[in-house]
Amino acid sequence: MTADAPGLAFAYDLRPVRVVFGHGALAQLPAELDALERGRVLLIATPGRSETLAQLRAALGARVAGVFDRAAEHVPAVVVESVLAEVKRASPDVCVSVGGGSAIGLGKAIARETGLMLAAVPTTYAGSEMTSIWGITGESGKKTGRDARVAPRLVLYDPELTLSLPAAVSAASGMNAMAHAAEALYAANADPGTLALAEEAARRLAASLPRVVAAPGDRAARAEALAGAHLAGRALDLAAMGLHHRICHVLGGTFGLPHARTHAIVLPHVVAFNASAAPEAMRRLARALGADEAAAGLARLNRALGLSATLGDLGLGPADIPRAAAEVVAAGYANPRPVTAEAVQAILEAALRGGTSSRA
Ligand code: NAD
Repeated sequence: MTADAPGLAFAYDLRPVRVVFGHGALAQLPAELDALERGRVLLIATPGRSETLAQLRAALGARVAGVFDRAAEHVPAVVVESVLAEVKRASPDVCVSVGGGSAIGLGKAIARETGLMLAAVPTTYAGSEMTSIWGITGESGKKTGRDARVAPRLVLYDPELTLSLPAAVSAASGMNAMAHAAEALYAANADPGTLALAEEAARRLAASLPRVVAAPGDRAARAEALAGAHLAGRALDLAAMGLHHRICHVLGGTFGLPHARTHAIVLPHVVAFNASAAPEAMRRLARALGADEAAAGLARLNRALGLSATLGDLGLGPADIPRAAAEVVAAGYANPRPVTAEAVQAILEAALRGGTSSRA
């Protein structure tokens, strides 16, 4: 059954998670941790985030037991090893990951290994904070899975912390969130609530991202974009992702392409491919984008956000395509339209050179 089919069938679990959202919400972090009876904090971040870390340190004071600022994209196994040594040394009661999916992903890896509670203070639009999806990348590529133990117990969104996210990073990250919403709309297991979340996520992202890119200091636009990302993260958690996420997983995990920009480039092509198999999802997505047609609306939004790169620009070569396509197909992901290696190759070729979407 797909979300477009006449019958309805769904099942889902809701986890306990406290979500706090608002300008200046960072000030509430100590009280929120108190409510969870968590004292000592290990802060997790990506390199270069010293200003944000200083804000967290100022808010948390003496309860900071350690700081690990070497989180990296796709959660390399060697980084997990290093952070586990720091967990042992600092002996925290909770990890607080501040940053994007990389910092939050490392916090999830710690939770998975040790059972330590995770709190997240997201500063990009990746949405990982709302999911139980973990990932780790070793020599044999990237492994992912779902495990309720890794999901943050507290998520604190303060749009003020996103003001420093550069326009180009904001644009790509926002399209990563858009991809969660788009694929939730045609997920076979999407419940009616998730469809509503996904459509509203897409609507808020489409409305706010061009404003964020035009004026990264626009606080109202930042709050809208972060709210859209929150909803997209919830949809990602509740719905099975399809071909688009599978392609990006392989391009990131096996070929080392950057996560968010890859999502932005690939999304219009996969949506065009799936259009004929998911008309209701396309209608909803187009409506959210204010477009006549979903794939064209996504391509137009990418252009408006200055996201003009191709997979070739990110380092994928034509010779990589058959291997990438074979790896995508081997996993047998759920998708509204049956997937063949030839179809994936056509999508990747279109995304490699840019230009029009693949419908083949
Ligand atoms: P990221 O976390 O790597 O952040 C991108 C860059 O932006 C980094 O250099 C970071 O230091 C910087 N940055 C973050 N916040 C900033 C701010 N406020 N100001 C200035 N710079 C800032 O990138 P991402 O796109 O957020 O996350 C990508 C990772 O997350 C990938 O590994 C992806 O697989 C994972 N992910 C996981 C899930 C999930 O549910 N498990 C969902 C989405 C993404």
